[in-house]
Amino acid sequence: MPQNLLDFDLDGLTAWFGELGEKPFRARQVFHWVHQAGVADFAQMTDIAKSLREKLQQEAVVAPPAVSYAHTSTDGTRKWLFDVGVANGIETVFIPEEDRGTLCVSSQVGCALECTFCSTGRQGFNRNLTVAEIIGQLWVAHHGLRGEVNRTTGEISDRPVTNVVMMGMGEPLANLENVVTALGIMLDDHAYGLSRRRVTVSTSGLVPAMDRLAERCPVALAVSLHAPNDALRDQIVPINRKYPLRELMAACRRYLAHAPRDFITFEYVMLAGVNDAPEHARQLIELVREVPCKFNLIPFNPFPDSGYEKPRSEAMRVFREILQDAGLVVTTRKTRGDDIDAACGQLAGKVADKSGRVMKRMHKETA
Ligand code: SAH
Ligand code: SF4
Repeated sequence: MPQNLLDFDLDGLTAWFGELGEKPFRARQVFHWVHQAGVADFAQMTDIAKSLREKLQQEAVVAPPAVSYAHTSTDGTRKWLFDVGVANGIETVFIPEEDRGTLCVSSQVGCALECTFCSTGRQGFNRNLTVAEIIGQLWVAHHGLRGEVNRTTGEISDRPVTNVVMMGMGEPLANLENVVTALGIMLDDHAYGLSRRRVTVSTSGLVPAMDRLAERCPVALAVSLHAPNDALRDQIVPINRKYPLRELMAACRRYLAHAPRDFITFEYVMLAGVNDAPEHARQLIELVREVPCKFNLIPFNPFPDSGYEKPRSEAMRVFREILQDAGLVVTTRKTRGDDIDAACGQLAGKVADKSGRVMKRMHKETA
């Protein structure tokens, strides 16, 4: 099997080049070609000696996961489904805005953590994504979008992806090694050069792995809270039974000592009649009293047979105002790309539930 160079960060590539008897600066050149120029064909790497190009053609490939389809929503939101060799595939979503372009990246096929309102959780766990499959999502998006006209600004962008959020399928901290290596490539100036503040890992609260992320690659952190007390969180985010709220809040405080931002983002999916009452908002204020934070309220994104409903907008407004009145910063996630089911946290689940039908619809729309 040829070596997939997308599996390496620069250190890994340098070590592998060492085994081939090649110097570190050669690894750097190839790394630039792959990640900065988006070139997968060694023959096009014109400043590399022909003998090395030939050696690479024999021994290596630059192979991102294969795109099963790509689709653009009416509001410019872009979505890719990647074939990773198992039934459901994984999804990546690009959300263009005036001042930024955010890529929502997947870390696993399925998820073992079984949050009750999450369609990925309902699928169960299939496998971890490799480094090449994680960074390959950025490679495909970044190089695919480069040179296109931004629908929001009308400008042609050389750096379409300015932000990455690990909020696609899967729990990134349950695939820590591969995620940390992929994050390192995103941040590396020899590759994408993204700022730590603009790369966000979202976790449902794997406390020991939060500490490891802080040591290994402290990027911005979002924590999926979804409930203000253990009794309710035990129900809807089952990992809470292992790492209850007191431990989670302590881990957030520890993380902040390393974090590139001075706050944690708490995500809170609003589920009608479950966690959206004023009393829940008041409990939240108490819970986060010692954690500098911002709240992101996300209306539940429905899927078939979920058993949950979207909150009424009035309930969301009241909830938000209670938090704001206590001095908390609250954003309410805009729903984007609705026509392609592209809202973050609501990724390949749709395809899993009714694959044939959705796939056919997508193909028709793209045709
Ligand atoms: N596993 C990580 C990251 C992936 S999910 C985590 O749980 O944080 C990204 C976000 O989408 C999480 O906050 C998740 O709770 C949320 N989410 C999951 N299912 C959703 C749904 N049906 N509607 C709205 N948000 C959802
Ligand atoms: Fe996994 Fe996150 Fe979905 Fe929970 S919300 S099941 S942790 S992907």
